[in-house]
Amino acid sequence: MLVDTLCSVAFYCQRCGQIEITDVPVFTGHGQQVLRCSHCGAEKAKLRFEPHSGLVIETACSVCGSKNRLVYPLRQLRGLRFEKVYCGTDHFELGYIGRWQDLAEFLDFNAAEYDALHPQDAYNFMERQQILLEAFNRLHDLAAEGDLLCPCGGHEFTADIAEDAIHLECTRCGSYAVIPARTPEDLRQLQPGCEVTFLRPDLIRNR
Ligand SMILES: [Zn+2]
Ligand SMILES: [Zn+2]
Ligand SMILES: [Zn+2]
Repeated sequence: MLVDTLCSVAFYCQRCGQIEITDVPVFTGHGQQVLRCSHCGAEKAKLRFEPHSGLVIETACSVCGSKNRLVYPLRQLRGLRFEKVYCGTDHFELGYIGRWQDLAEFLDFNAAEYDALHPQDAYNFMERQQILLEAFNRLHDLAAEGDLLCPCGGHEFTADIAEDAIHLECTRCGSYAVIPARTPEDLRQLQPGCEVTFLRPDLIRNR
């Protein structure tokens, strides 16, 4: 039995969507561990152990912009094998916490098996999360660079992640665009100069 490991965590990088498993050591003192994405270097989470509360994880959700502070008491961690970590605001799936083996099994699970066990979840869930997050961040970059314009001339948008698309709304006129984010091909479309079709709110039914 490993006594130097508190638990393991796996968070989706909120920048590039990559996921990897990291051991969380039993901390001594008040040290803080900053988890970074090994792929793009973005900060994923801050972890620290507070004697009276337990493991405290601070992680931001790039989808809704909120900061999450999650607390796992030591007692809970001891028995924890696998648990999903959600954003407290919009319930976006941020990652997983538990034992390394259980996380690895979950992540290695082939999509068909996963699908069979979790019929309520969409096929290829990991891939979907990664594509959604990357599409979301690409749109963010395009908007920041001024490469995303509403026909009204507006260049500020609110963005929401839906099942397999990003919904953009112009903050100036309320026009609305649905950007598919389901496949790698959808991602490739999101380049400077890409065509985004905005619909005027008075022309949209069943919104
Ligand atoms: Zn990354
Ligand atoms: Zn969120
Ligand atoms: Zn507009």
